[in-house]
Amino acid sequence: MPDLPPLREVIARHGLSASKALGQNFLLDEQLLDRIAAIPGDLADRAVLEVGPGPGGLTRALLRAGARVTAIEMDRRCLPALAELGEAFPGKLRVIEGDALKTDPATLFDEPYAIVANLPYNVGTALFTGWLSGEDWPPQWTSLTLMFQEEVARRITAQSGTAAYGRLAVLAQWRSKARLAMKVHRSAFTPPPKVMSAIVHVVPGEMPGGVSARVLERVTEAAFGQRRKMLRQSLKGLPGALDALERVGIDPQRRAETLSVDEFVEVARVLS
Ligand code: SAM
Repeated sequence: MPDLPPLREVIARHGLSASKALGQNFLLDEQLLDRIAAIPGDLADRAVLEVGPGPGGLTRALLRAGARVTAIEMDRRCLPALAELGEAFPGKLRVIEGDALKTDPATLFDEPYAIVANLPYNVGTALFTGWLSGEDWPPQWTSLTLMFQEEVARRITAQSGTAAYGRLAVLAQWRSKARLAMKVHRSAFTPPPKVMSAIVHVVPGEMPGGVSARVLERVTEAAFGQRRKMLRQSLKGLPGALDALERVGIDPQRRAETLSVDEFVEVARVLS
């Protein structure tokens, strides 16, 4: 393994003071970073997409695990530090300067790839829902290993009947397996964010037949848009939805959070 300088030194040498506007909270503990890089499983010679490498802490852990990393970073100030890291792992790191929200990862890979990221909080949920919303399934990515605010991680992995259960849980679970893989204390970041964080690991599963992702999204949007109301009220504006409830035998007096992910899928199947 190449002998790398401590991350604090890299940050100081390249003047990478954390920018609030870019959602920068850096992880500097190499052992923690290695544990995060281990969550997706064996990465030896696997293609990995990392969003927001910053000074390259998680990037170096991924490279140590043997991955071939493509990293998208918006902050130009980080590029020299990442170039140095690329020199230490020749041919293993490709850095793309740009906005991940405007980059289609499919254009970057001609092989399956794992996505691993300590995401900027402000863009994290948008990227996550985008990656999970495609009509084509399974996607080209093989897993998502993503840092979120703990509250968001709990919403992604929530079970029906809980307050955290909602659109994000259904989106993450109807054709994928999502688990909370690791909690990360706020003090692990420099500077520490206001709230605790957690890493979610998502693996694509089988796509239930005859269901459109867009239709399912419309059903959950309407149902959870008025989550305290009965379904007969919240789904009233969605053409065919009340008939669909009846056809699959769901009592319209129930509220959205009592429906299992499978029940939402059944309703969407009838509507699709
Ligand atoms: N991965 C590093 C770590 O774990 O220490 C940095 C994490 S920091 C929370 C988020 C990083 O994402 C920053 O480097 C920031 O510049 C970058 N970033 C923010 N918005 C981005 C976007 N839309 N596209 C690509 N990178 C972005």
